[in-house]
Amino acid sequence: MSDTTLRFDTLEALRARVDAWRQGGDRIVLVPTMGALHAGHLALVAHAKAIGRRAVVSIFVNPTQFGPNEDFARYPRDTETDLGLLSRAGADAAWLPSVETMYPSGFSTRIEPGPAAEGLCGAVRPGHFSGVATVVTKLINQVRPDVALFGEKDFQQLQVIRSVVRDLDLAVTIEGVPTLRETDGLALSSRNRYLDPRERAIAPRLHAVLADMAGRLAHGAEAAPLVAEGIAVLEAAGFGPVQYLEVRDAHTLAPVARVEREARVLVAAYLGRTRLIDNVAVVPV
Ligand code: AMP
Repeated sequence: MSDTTLRFDTLEALRARVDAWRQGGDRIVLVPTMGALHAGHLALVAHAKAIGRRAVVSIFVNPTQFGPNEDFARYPRDTETDLGLLSRAGADAAWLPSVETMYPSGFSTRIEPGPAAEGLCGAVRPGHFSGVATVVTKLINQVRPDVALFGEKDFQQLQVIRSVVRDLDLAVTIEGVPTLRETDGLALSSRNRYLDPRERAIAPRLHAVLADMAGRLAHGAEAAPLVAEGIAVLEAAGFGPVQYLEVRDAHTLAPVARVEREARVLVAAYLGRTRLIDNVAVVPV
């Protein structure tokens, strides 16, 4: 395990280091993040170290994936704490580009992902997945990793990135990592720190509703009535608005009326001012 994570602020320095590692035969694994790191991110770093020699973690709060009324300005930023966590987790490099480095004046290219980006978060966050696809493509081209890791916590994002990598022949393997949860079921998220104690007590209901639905869907229940019931339960618990609660095919993300092959139940809901997302797998029995 490395004592200190090397910190890179310029692309030239990052490339020189990563190229040297690659030429030495090291397998390089990229973990893109927006910082405000928690144990869920560190599980990705641990997985990176388990499957590769070098873990490169990017920290970049990407302005182009936030809508005008979203939380870009107040998104938590704590680079020094993040670097300490990365050193303890054994990350080899932290890539900390500025907005100007990523989007110098004259930058004008955007990637428009296909159907995987439609509906769900794509419907309520217009332009979000185009921003994600563009920045992730840049990060992959900057680091040129063998593998890039993404959490299943952002399941639609994972599927969008898989489709971009496939369609554009990017020379990287994408791996999903299961969602790390608190003991009460709440998925770890940088946005959980926005929750006040009352909201934090309500928040695990999100996962409880998904888990209950997944169990019934796995036994052949019809999706529509379960969705209506789930929304009512969440609203009664104090969530609102529920932006979506949907059952989708796990591979194509097409809507599913009754589960016949692996599916996902996905949700986005506000709790006070905080938008939470989560999803669980449905494996038919
Ligand atoms: P973010 O900093 O929110 O962009 O997340 C960076 C990466 O960490 C993304 O691939 C997320 O899906 C992943 N991630 C975030 N929270 C979790 C979690 N609770 N468990 C596993 N992966 C996570």
